[in-house]
Amino acid sequence: MTPQRVCVLGATGSIGENTLDVIARHPERLSVYALSAFSRIERLAQLAWDARAEVVVVPDDSARQRFAQAWPPGRKSPEVRVGAHALEQTAADANVTTVMAAIVGAAGLPAAMAAARAGKRVLLANKEALVAAGSLFMAAVREHGAQLLPIDSEHNAIFQCLPQTGREQAPVAPEKGVRRLLLTASGGPFRTTALDQLSAVTPDQACAHPNWRMGRKISVDSATMLNKGLEVIEAHWLFAMPVERIHVVIHPQSMVHSMVEYEDGSILAQLGQPDMRTPIAVGLGFPDRIESGVGLLSLASLGRLDFEEPDLHRFPCLRLAFEALAAGQAACIALNAANEVAVAHFLGEEIRFTQIAHVIEGCLNKLARQATPHLASLDDVLALDAQTRLVAREFCLVQ
Ligand code: NAD
Ligand code: MG
Repeated sequence: MTPQRVCVLGATGSIGENTLDVIARHPERLSVYALSAFSRIERLAQLAWDARAEVVVVPDDSARQRFAQAWPPGRKSPEVRVGAHALEQTAADANVTTVMAAIVGAAGLPAAMAAARAGKRVLLANKEALVAAGSLFMAAVREHGAQLLPIDSEHNAIFQCLPQTGREQAPVAPEKGVRRLLLTASGGPFRTTALDQLSAVTPDQACAHPNWRMGRKISVDSATMLNKGLEVIEAHWLFAMPVERIHVVIHPQSMVHSMVEYEDGSILAQLGQPDMRTPIAVGLGFPDRIESGVGLLSLASLGRLDFEEPDLHRFPCLRLAFEALAAGQAACIALNAANEVAVAHFLGEEIRFTQIAHVIEGCLNKLARQATPHLASLDDVLALDAQTRLVAREFCLVQ
């Protein structure tokens, strides 16, 4: 077993910190080479100290200075690299074997793509990268012999429920014998809230997820269920599965992380505590099973597992995501970019919770009236992403 040297992109985030927790449990097989952060630079310094990182990547010179001030005086500092280009270079660095892509949003796409193009083992948490550039990303994985391991708990569960042979390459067709993928969703904090109260919910209420502790953006996405929509698109690319064979089922306890339904009538499910260290450990250890720090799930104390159909009237964002996937890549880019802008405005208390869906729908409708954009390269994707953000900001202003 060759030890892995890990680059954690987005180290100060919820996934980043959980990744460092798992890495620290396995010094014989895992070490940290590089960490990145966009804000909370003092926290980055602490994490880099604890993990003995050799490199850190920060966004600009002021962050570089903050890092230097936070570093213990007289102790050898990691090399500090600055800027978005340095992020891509570090993801592709020859010293790195494994990249945890845990930046939030399409901002993480170029670095995740750089890791794929450098043929790394890529642990993908950054679902927005696949939503915006699924076909380009999967092509890069295949062409450069990268190993892609899904970290999003649903996709990690599906990965575990699929046959474990022939997993070296990213699939180009659905796995033989599989009928459908069943993505579970908790329904978030507003699953049973009266519909007429949804327009008045606050960012803190939206971020109070019943089962998971996550960053604020994904927490709002879970409350609108746009997160599940992004995950449908993510599953489409990861498992080469047509949209009509991906089904969403509400499961409020979040103990079944997702399922694979086979032609013979079997459904295989993966269960466990709602703790991201399990999927992270699956990715870091694969094909071995390694300790994650997560306690066992007591089925008897859980008592029951509930399932129900999602209500697309309550969760219009989920409907919009299905529509975007059916419409094509440009619509998926617009869906994601519009959502990122709308969620930021909601978190800033500039628009209401229910207006997130209006902003996304407005952007998708506007895009549908235009000529189909040419999307052959990463630059094309990023250009449409930027263009949609401008439109989405206008929609936010008039809400
Ligand atoms: P978070 O907000 O807690 O952390 C985000 C990280 O990205 C931070 O380190 C931040 O500094 C960095 N970052 C933010 N903006 C950046 C930018 N413009 N450029 C470079 N770095 C930037 O987010 P999170 O909850 O850890 O989620 C990270 C990703 O993982 C998201 O794509 C999310 O959808 C996905 N994910 C998270 C969870 C979870 O449990 N938190 C579960 C499944 C998938
Ligand atoms: Mg998920």
